[in-house]
Amino acid sequence: MKVKFWGVRGSIPIFGPKNTKYGGNTSCIEVNCDDKTIILDARTGIMPLGLDIMAGITAEENHKKSLYIFFSHVHWDHIQGYPFFRPAFHSEFEIYLYSTLQKNIDIESALRSQMNPPFFPIQLQDMSASTNFNNINSGENVQIGNVTVEGIALDHPDNSLGYKITYENKSVAYISDHEHTDISHERIVDFLKGTKLVIFDAHYTPEEYSGSDGDGGRKGWGHSTWEEAVALCIEAKIDRLALTHHGREDSGVDRIESEAQSEFRNTIAAYEV
Ligand SMILES: [Zn+2]
Ligand SMILES: [Zn+2]
Repeated sequence: MKVKFWGVRGSIPIFGPKNTKYGGNTSCIEVNCDDKTIILDARTGIMPLGLDIMAGITAEENHKKSLYIFFSHVHWDHIQGYPFFRPAFHSEFEIYLYSTLQKNIDIESALRSQMNPPFFPIQLQDMSASTNFNNINSGENVQIGNVTVEGIALDHPDNSLGYKITYENKSVAYISDHEHTDISHERIVDFLKGTKLVIFDAHYTPEEYSGSDGDGGRKGWGHSTWEEAVALCIEAKIDRLALTHHGREDSGVDRIESEAQSEFRNTIAAYEV
């Protein structure tokens, strides 16, 4: 099982000399289990991932290549890379897309809407890969060969879903976008037990979240902190933690990483490959 980060920023891409260490793209993670490619979220990081997938296709391959994209939710900034995902324009790809319903909007309508004229010059039906749209609910499993993907409801405006991917008795969990509560904390500890790697939404510092920095606080904004990530990992006995959805420049991410490491040594702030 190999995990590659193609985008780690939260909310909006960020570039320039103060942002080179972690990369500027927004969330997209590739998880390869044997010959299965699973993609978590389709924000701007899915553009370079698409190019990488195309570069790996050899002329001799004469069977369809399957890709599996799981969306945490369809907030605009989590789907906006899809119209730029090169494999979706090639008929040799078969793309399976999964998301939870948000206000009764499914993943197909969400992707279609963002490409409707006059927002984008190409429509969803013009993308020539075969596509298969699916709803997934909290507690449901999707079986992809020997890989199991399980969903869990997170706390976020309009809903979002976290995922646990299990292959050959190893699991990686992706918990973003999520705002911690006392109720969800216990539920998520249970979900994470036995997981090797947890990728977690640490968009805010604890001071920003609580308002102790004097800026009014961020409660109800749908994101979490490194402190909550560390508490979950300690309680669920997780091996490794990767913080993501970075909401600041590199120097601030460095600070979050070292504060988290002082309480949970096997922490990294995720960075682009
Ligand atoms: Zn987000
Ligand atoms: Zn969101």
